[in-house]
Amino acid sequence: MVACPVCAAAPDPPRVVSPDRLHGTPGRFVVARCPRCGTGMTLPPATFHDLASYYPTGYGAYEARPHPHVRAISSVIQAAQRRAARRRPPLDAIAALPPGRGLDVGCGRGDVAAGLVGDGWRMTGVEPSDVACVVARERGVNARHGVLATVALDPGAYDAAIFQQSLEHTDDPVGDLRRTHAALRPDAVIAVSVPNAGGWQARRFGGRWYHLDLPRHRVHFTASSLARALDEAGFTDVRTSTSTSAVGLLASIQYRLWGRCLFPHGLALRVAAGLCALALPLARLADRLGGGGDLLHATARRPSGSSGK
Ligand SMILES: [Zn+2]
Repeated sequence: MVACPVCAAAPDPPRVVSPDRLHGTPGRFVVARCPRCGTGMTLPPATFHDLASYYPTGYGAYEARPHPHVRAISSVIQAAQRRAARRRPPLDAIAALPPGRGLDVGCGRGDVAAGLVGDGWRMTGVEPSDVACVVARERGVNARHGVLATVALDPGAYDAAIFQQSLEHTDDPVGDLRRTHAALRPDAVIAVSVPNAGGWQARRFGGRWYHLDLPRHRVHFTASSLARALDEAGFTDVRTSTSTSAVGLLASIQYRLWGRCLFPHGLALRVAAGLCALALPLARLADRLGGGGDLLHATARRPSGSSGK
C-alpha cells in the first residue's frame, strides 16, 4: 500500500511516466500525485540498494576530480555563482545570521557549505557518497558519511540547516525534516531548495521535464506541499519563493526533442551548462510569463520551546 510521504493519503493513479533520461537506469518509472496535498511520489518504491544503483560514479555532485583546466575555469564560475546564491532566497536567510554551527544535508562535495565556512561558519555535512565526503572534508566541512537516518547529530546544537537539491532524493522527507528539527536549536533557520513540481515547466514538459530526474528524485514538491512537509515536521514561519535555474528550460527542450540527455558528463556537459547560462535571461522571461521559476525555495524556523511533532 503506497501512501503520500507528506500527508499519508492514498495517491491518484500515476499519470507521468518516464525512463531515466540522464543515466539510462533500466526500466520505466512513474509519478503518482497525492489528491490531498499535491505531493508527487516516484514509483515503484526503491530499496536502499536500488537508490545507490541510480547514481553513477560520475554523477554531478559526486564527481571527484575533473581535468585541471576544466576544474580551474569551473571553479571561478562556480565561486561567483555561489556568492550570488548566498544573496538570494533561501540562503540569504542564513547568510544574514551571525556565523554559528550549520548543517548541510546532502552536502555533496561541500560546494555550498565551503562558502559558509569561508564566512566563518562551522559546517557539518551529511552525505551518502564517501568520495564526495573526502572532497568536502578537504574544503573544511565536517562531512559525515551516511544519511540522516544513520548519522548521529548533536540534539539542539545547530543554528541553521540547508537542504540544497537534496530533500527530493529521499523517500521519507518528513522524517528527515523531523530529524533536522531535533538537531536545531530553538529559533534556528532551515533553508530548502527543490525542483518546483507545481511550476509551468513541470506541467508543460510532463515526463520530459528535466528536473523530474527519475528515478533519483523520489518526491516532487509544490509550494504548498513543501510548506505542509515543513509544518508536519514542526517548523513555523514558512516562506516559499521560486527562481529560474540555468539549465532547466533548455535541458527540458532537449528531452522533448531527443528524449534523453546528449551531454551527461565531462567537458561536453560543462560547455552545455555554459551555453545555458548565456540563455538564462530568456528562461527568466519565460518563467515570469509562466507564473514562476523551475526551482522552489522555502525558509522556516524551529519555534522556541518546541520539541517537534
Ligand atoms: Zn499528500
